[in-house]
Amino acid sequence: MSYDLVVIGTGPGGYVCAIRAAQLGLKTAVVEKNPTFGGTCLNVGCIPSKALLHASHMFSEAAYALAPLGVVVDSPRLDLSAMMKHKDATVAANVSGVAFLLKKNGVDSFIGSGRLLPPEGEHRVEVTAADGGKQIVSARNVVVATGSAVAPLRDSTGAAIEIDEKLVLSSTGALSLPRVPENLTIVGAGVIGLELGSVWRRLGAKVTVIEFLDRILPGFDLEIAQRFQKILEKQGFGFRLSTKVTRVDRGEGKATVSFAAVDGGGEGTIEADGVLIATGRIPYTEGLGLAEAGVAIDRGRVVVDDRFATSAPGVYAIGDVIRGAMLAHKAEEEGVAVAEILAGQHGHVDYGVIPGVVYTMPEIASVGLTEEEARAKGAAVNIGKFPFTANGRARAMRETDGFVKIIADAATDRVLGVHILGASAGELIAEACVLMAFSGSAEDLARICHAHPTMSEAVKEAALGVDKRAIHI
Ligand code: FAD
Repeated sequence: MSYDLVVIGTGPGGYVCAIRAAQLGLKTAVVEKNPTFGGTCLNVGCIPSKALLHASHMFSEAAYALAPLGVVVDSPRLDLSAMMKHKDATVAANVSGVAFLLKKNGVDSFIGSGRLLPPEGEHRVEVTAADGGKQIVSARNVVVATGSAVAPLRDSTGAAIEIDEKLVLSSTGALSLPRVPENLTIVGAGVIGLELGSVWRRLGAKVTVIEFLDRILPGFDLEIAQRFQKILEKQGFGFRLSTKVTRVDRGEGKATVSFAAVDGGGEGTIEADGVLIATGRIPYTEGLGLAEAGVAIDRGRVVVDDRFATSAPGVYAIGDVIRGAMLAHKAEEEGVAVAEILAGQHGHVDYGVIPGVVYTMPEIASVGLTEEEARAKGAAVNIGKFPFTANGRARAMRETDGFVKIIADAATDRVLGVHILGASAGELIAEACVLMAFSGSAEDLARICHAHPTMSEAVKEAALGVDKRAIHI
């Protein structure tokens, strides 16, 4: 079997790459070691987490948000197994959708673990099925899209804290708990920790987040993160910032998490019946035979040039396994770009316009430079802000937490970054992406008619605010 392209891994990077390559006439196959397609994102990441975030939000809305709107319901009861069924059905629909799309586009699939063998004229990928059966697939080009895995957390002796997915959890275990923990301790105040913490907090868990840094959501605009922390505290989250976990001791159904202040100050312990390790993810390249194939790796990441080519001719890599944000849509854009490059086109990714969203309530969405990054680059900036408390639609929906912040270059007015804390921020950020992709200015945005009453008017008002002429504040 010989192909123009074999893609190893069918996460959002791999399957999108394969479909685009097939659209462009390349004879394409995918190799996937999981029984289902879709990778981390569809199976144990973006999709199941959003299914649970939505369902748990509905639960807390029914409990707390409906009465002030005049909708009186008896106290809602939780049916966790039905909620999990909703999550599982959402995942199943999405992964089978990918299977359908691959087939529809004429992409062949090989289920098993892929490993690069030394090339013999063409590249050769050995596929080992779960039953040990092996086959060899040959191709002119190979795209490695093997994604990432949970980063281990090391205790004070340097030993990795064991994840058993019952008491000490990764995100995967935290998406499938059979009951609501009484006390959930989360190590890491990044996106995954705060999203999954929100799910279980809404369902009744007492949630404590331990974070090494002195702030939550590293990488996001500091002002947004600080405001968001206060909102989460009102929702019942507890935070221990500038604190490191030194060990986790397991007992009968309970763990004792020991921690110490980063500056060498106080130490303490927390008892928990769930400990979620959410300290990040690392590129996954196990068993791929990359070193033998001459593919250079730097600190675990596959090294690529700006055409996604690795150091081995004909071998490319995309998604979480290479540099850059570990996000599904970034992987997808790279998948399309590399397929187009392999088909002789000019595929390219605009890395300045990759949005990041935190799907909590309120949501956070961000694109471009944060205020700190813009100032560190020495840019003189004008900043416009607009709070949702001054937005009619937000008031009508009682969703007034948060604000929009737009950072524009003071000399050119070009928008450098947009940061939104508020309901539907993940949808609102799209217009900022379009604007920035076309190098738009705050004035461009301010002069575009936005429907009334919508949350998006706050984006327009923040753009007006860059020139200090917002109307409604
Ligand atoms: P992956 O999706 O990790 O896919 C890699 C695939 O390669 C897997 O199917 C794996 O089985 C396969 N594979 C690995 N090695 C081999 C091999 N040797 N042979 C064959 N197959 C192999 N991102 C967002 O943008 N939005 C979100 O809301 C979001 N939420 C998330 C929530 C959670 C809980 C987690 C864990 C992640 C979340 N992410 C989110 C991140 C997102 O899932 C990843 O950025 C994305 O999946 C990366 O895509 P990928 O194609 O690079 O790799």
